[in-house]
Amino acid sequence: SVTVRRRFRRHFSLAGVQRNVTDHRVLLLGPPGAGKGTQGDRLADRYDLDVITTGDALRNNKQMDISDLGLEYDTPGEYMDAGALVPDAVVNEIVVAALADADGFVLDGYPRNLDQAEYLSDQTALDHVVLLDVPESVLVERLTGRRVCDDCGATYHVDFDPPAEDGVCDDCGGEIVQREDDTEETVRDRLQVYADETEPVVEHYRETGALTAVSGEGSPDEVFDRLVELIDG
Ligand code: ADP
Ligand code: ADP
Ligand code: ZN
Repeated sequence: SVTVRRRFRRHFSLAGVQRNVTDHRVLLLGPPGAGKGTQGDRLADRYDLDVITTGDALRNNKQMDISDLGLEYDTPGEYMDAGALVPDAVVNEIVVAALADADGFVLDGYPRNLDQAEYLSDQTALDHVVLLDVPESVLVERLTGRRVCDDCGATYHVDFDPPAEDGVCDDCGGEIVQREDDTEETVRDRLQVYADETEPVVEHYRETGALTAVSGEGSPDEVFDRLVELIDG
């Protein structure tokens, strides 16, 4: 089975206590490189939320044996390195386990197709569905320059957001690495998968009136201010 690592833990709460109305349930949508991970971490800090990120959970389980599904590949990692979506059955299991003990959360990287969106709608309500809007021309340089902490998953960029000390995570001291799927070729494939599979999800939330689009351009601080303004109303 799949375990989900959370970067930020909520304060202690008694089992069975009702969900607090200040526990926001935020869905962050946007193409690869839009800034979902970067902003999700900041929102989790500010509002004391869990980050539920299917990408990180899958990276921690790249070698998991999923051959029993009888699909194209036998591990999540093979799909990820090809820039393809990991099968819904695997990803849905991650999300349902994470939602089970999250109160407030930021959901990043899920749902990525309409079937996942339908599954999610049976699992939880959402308070905010936010599209981080970034033009495609910006995404490739964001993604090819991205670096991540191998230990805690914190996100950096070689030019736009470097760590204080080269190769060392500011948050935990872990080693900063480049993801295997952040090469230019795989980035192009992932952007195509987004256009084909995930843009219909964005359209779905737009049609239901749930979606708010927020510009993801400008500095991370500027984008964060827009999100806080949205959530605080
Ligand atoms: P990014 O935000 O840069 O697109 P993620 O870390 O969210 O990257 O995802 C990396 C990879 O993990 C995806 O390309 C895909 O292979 C897999 N993945 C993550 N979330 C999902 C999901 N909801 N459904 C299917 N595959 C997923
Ligand atoms: P996503 O989770 O949507 O794929 P990330 O948060 O991982 O996106 O951001 C992708 C890359 O772009 C990272 O290297 C990150 O440091 C950088 N980045 C994030 N937000 C901004 C921004 N507002 N301006 C410039 N670079 C950014
Ligand atoms: Zn770290």
